[in-house]
Amino acid sequence: MNNPQPVFHIKLYGTRGSTPVCEPGFQKFGGNTTCIYADLLTNDRSKLIVIFDAGTGIRKLGQDILAGKLPDTENILLVFSHFHLDHIQGLPFFDPAYNPAKKIGIFSPHRELKKSDLHNIFATQMQKEYFPVQFDKMGAHIDFYTVEDYHAALNADSQVAITYQLHNHPGGAYSYRMESQGKSVVICTDLEHGRQIDPQTVEFCRDADLLIHDAQYTAAELEKHRGWGHSSYAQAMETAERAGVKQLVFTHHDPAHDDDFLLKKERYCREKFPNCIMGKDGAEFFI
Ligand SMILES: [Zn+2]
Ligand SMILES: [Zn+2]
Repeated sequence: MNNPQPVFHIKLYGTRGSTPVCEPGFQKFGGNTTCIYADLLTNDRSKLIVIFDAGTGIRKLGQDILAGKLPDTENILLVFSHFHLDHIQGLPFFDPAYNPAKKIGIFSPHRELKKSDLHNIFATQMQKEYFPVQFDKMGAHIDFYTVEDYHAALNADSQVAITYQLHNHPGGAYSYRMESQGKSVVICTDLEHGRQIDPQTVEFCRDADLLIHDAQYTAAELEKHRGWGHSSYAQAMETAERAGVKQLVFTHHDPAHDDDFLLKKERYCREKFPNCIMGKDGAEFFI
């Protein structure tokens, strides 16, 4: 079944890797770290939105909810690829987390992490030495979901199936796949393939309508950064090609890659995989 109408609304709020950047020359693609918004257009849009990672981009996402530019749902599900700083550092600036009327679920598939471990990850970055408001005082009702709570966490909205898969990254990280009504969106960031393209990742991305894939490095840069946990443009394209992906978005831009560089790279990559685009903070996709 393939629905001719868009099913998912995806908006990129942070596409920068490793650290936010704000200097001139980086404004076109943006400097916020990883945060991706997803909701189901076919839903009544009042039930659930899903946010992938809480990098600095989540600040603007929260503002857009308050401004009525995104659905103001009671339930927000935050799913995490992993907990490196660039993927969690925006949470203290996420306005809905200060609203007692909101229910926020935080999910990680990391098997070794208990609920208390998940809580500690977020409480630590907001302990009083680092931030004036402590995590437990934010106000929203925040629940932690471990892999045992998978169904409660990820299938709260039965109209969308969300699956995940562990991939190679220092400490491990997870890809996510959302499917509904014949449409699929896959997010694979902070992923290092190794010498060969990871066949499990190719299978996970199989026939996706949209793939948002790590592309921190050029091939030459990747050689100098083996073991750092990221992919090259060529690897992202090869994954998309082999998986039969319809549209590819590069993300986790290296902080050294300015707008000129990314524009040039995008042109170059399109000659090899025509339906690819450089991820940009604020870009929207209707899948
Ligand atoms: Zn990262
Ligand atoms: Zn990472």
